[in-house]
This record gives sequence, C-alpha cells and structure tokens, in this order.
Amino acid sequence: MGTNNIIFLEVIEWFDETGQELIHRIPENGSGEIKFGAQLVVRDSQAGILFYKGKATEAFGPGRHTLKTANIPVLTKILSAPWGMTSPLRAEVYFANMKVFPNLKWGTKNPVAFKDSELGLIRLRAHGIFNIQIVQPILFINSLVGTMGKFTTEEIEEYLKRIIVSRFNDYLGENLDSILNLASHYDELSIALQERLHKDFTRFGLNLERLYITSITPPPEVQKAIDDQSRMNAIKDLDKFVKMKAAMAMEKAAESQGEAGAGIGMGMGFMMPGMFAQSFAQQQSTTGNVLQAQTSPSSGAAGVAIPSKQENNCPDCHNPIPVDSKFCPLCGHQQLVFDQCVNCGKNLAPNAKFCSQCGHPSDEKPAPATCSKCGQENMPGASFCNQCGEKLV
Ligand SMILES: [Zn+2]
Ligand SMILES: [Zn+2]
Ligand SMILES: [Zn+2]
Repeated sequence: MGTNNIIFLEVIEWFDETGQELIHRIPENGSGEIKFGAQLVVRDSQAGILFYKGKATEAFGPGRHTLKTANIPVLTKILSAPWGMTSPLRAEVYFANMKVFPNLKWGTKNPVAFKDSELGLIRLRAHGIFNIQIVQPILFINSLVGTMGKFTTEEIEEYLKRIIVSRFNDYLGENLDSILNLASHYDELSIALQERLHKDFTRFGLNLERLYITSITPPPEVQKAIDDQSRMNAIKDLDKFVKMKAAMAMEKAAESQGEAGAGIGMGMGFMMPGMFAQSFAQQQSTTGNVLQAQTSPSSGAAGVAIPSKQENNCPDCHNPIPVDSKFCPLCGHQQLVFDQCVNCGKNLAPNAKFCSQCGHPSDEKPAPATCSKCGQENMPGASFCNQCGEKLV
C-alpha cells in the first residue's frame, strides 16, 4: 500500500455483486484523493462512511451526496482550512452493508482446552451459526477497522468468530465442572452465550441477532476413553452417561432453539440511527417479500424501527426526533455512535481524545488477556485460556 498509489475520486459508489461483503473500502488499495464536489452514491441498505486520518468521521445514508465543506460541517472542524478551491482531500470511504448477514458459521479452529473435573484436561470442538447486522456504522468502522486494524470482511468475520469461541470457552470454564453434565446445561449455555456476545458485538456497532451452537464434540481419544471400560467405572451413574452421549451427538437444531433465543438481548445495546433505519424500512416495504425472506421474520428485525414521515423516536426518551439527528435534541442521547470507550463502554463524542466518564484515552486498544501459565494471548476480556484451560486473572 504505497502512498504513491493515489486514486482520484470523483464518483464514489459501490455495488456488492456477491452480497457477502460487510464492508468495502474505496479505493481498495492506497489512498484516495477526493475531489471537491465529488459525488458519493449510497445505495439502499448501505451506509457511506468518510474515513479520514484513521478515523471514521461522518456517515451518509442512502442517496447521492455532493462532498463539499458546506455540506459536511464536520470537515470544517477537522481541516484547518476550508476544503475547496485547491487541493483534493486525502481520505477513504468505507461502505457498510446494513442488511442482516444470516447463517454465518463459527467454530473452533483449534479445539479449546477445558479442565474437566472427571476427565482431566480435554480439548473440545464446537460449531454453530450466527446472524449479524451493522446497526452503528461509524462505531463499527472505528472499532474494528480503526482500532483493531481489520480491513476486510474476511478479517472481520474471522475476528468475530474468535470472540465467539473465546466466550464459549469462558462459559464452560465458569459454569461447567464436567462435560458429563453438559446435557443439563445445554439450553442455559446457548442463552448465556448469546447474551454475553450480544454485549461484545454491541461494542462493535453490531446487532447479534441470533447465535446457535450446533455441536460440541470432544476429541476421538476422549470419546474413546469415555467408552473405555475403566473409564466407565469412574462414571457411576449410567443415566448421566447416556445423557452425556446425547449431548455429544447433539446437533441441537437451530429450529428448536431458534425462536426462544431470538428475542434475547434486544433491550440491550442500541438501535439503528434513524437515517439508516428509515431507508431500510422503505426498502423493506418496496421490495416486500424478497427482502423479508433474507432478513428473517420481522420479530428479528431488532434495530429497524419503522418511522413515519421524517421522524424517528429517540430510543432513550421516546420523543420524536428528526431522522438525521446525531444526538436527541431533547435528552441529548447519542443516536449515531462514533466510538466507545474500551474501558467503560461510554459513547464518545466525535474527536474526543479521552473518555468523559473514566478518562481513558479514546484510541486505547482492548488489551489481550495473556496466560501466565502458557503465555498464550487470549481475546480481550477472556477469563479462561483457550490453549491450556487455566483461569486468567
Ligand atoms: Zn431523547
Ligand atoms: Zn471510559
Ligand atoms: Zn494458557
């Protein structure tokens, strides 16, 4: 990515033929020089995000936007001189796909270590699926692209999957003494995992619509050991054993667990700002069943408030407010979230250097949890080591 690879941008738009991309950067490589008065074309269910000096600074809803200082007040604040007349603006644009991404697969790449009270240290594999939707595009770009340096859809999905596996590992470490008892904890596990991850994903401006565990499997040698006669003696209760076998083979279908888990965590986090929710609602009504089919039943469309006219309701004080408000004019609630403090989760104002609540620097990265026993770097906030199963302090 040499700086000599400069692309002059006059019309900035993106059409995702694959339907698989969460985000797309323009230009794809190198830097962009945006001409004064350039056209930014944002399609339905997209958000256009202006990325300047490593930060997302402004979000644009669907429509055609002419990029001039007069139209983008935030630019006047960022740039020392008004943008215009002479030099183009060196910046990038990210497009965020705001639709629901259904049936993404997660799973353990390497099996996670679990200290089983009866079987000793064992390595478990787990797989499942999840649905996500970007609800706060600026926060999404700032937290994952800006802070964590994940630039492509693949890198972002990979990172989200690692978080899921890490929280799964934590849940087992904190709540399960032996996989022999897994069967009785299975439902709790799915629900608790989804709740925990909903919080994690909210920090990235994402709504985790659903998350399922489809299988939890011990390695063949453990399975064999369990089947082994000598091991059988350790398992006094045969009924337990049968239950465990059921749990191992459990292909807990998404369908059965589905609707029960669907509403979880909907009250937490935040809604999609009016400027995006509006277009999404319109699009839904025009494209009707086609989109409906992709985006799951309407009960699942958490952030998509259906506003009438040019108004939207503040999720905090519930008063009607203009759709493009970044803050509620009545209660000050931040509608379009720019960044969140990694320490306390407070919404940060654009260009804040420090958190107004706890004083931590706004560009602080979440620190990985390093295991004191094996040295493995675990995901920030992890409580059990994925590598050796040790409790992290
Ligand atoms: Zn309000
Ligand atoms: Zn803070
Ligand atoms: Zn470790």
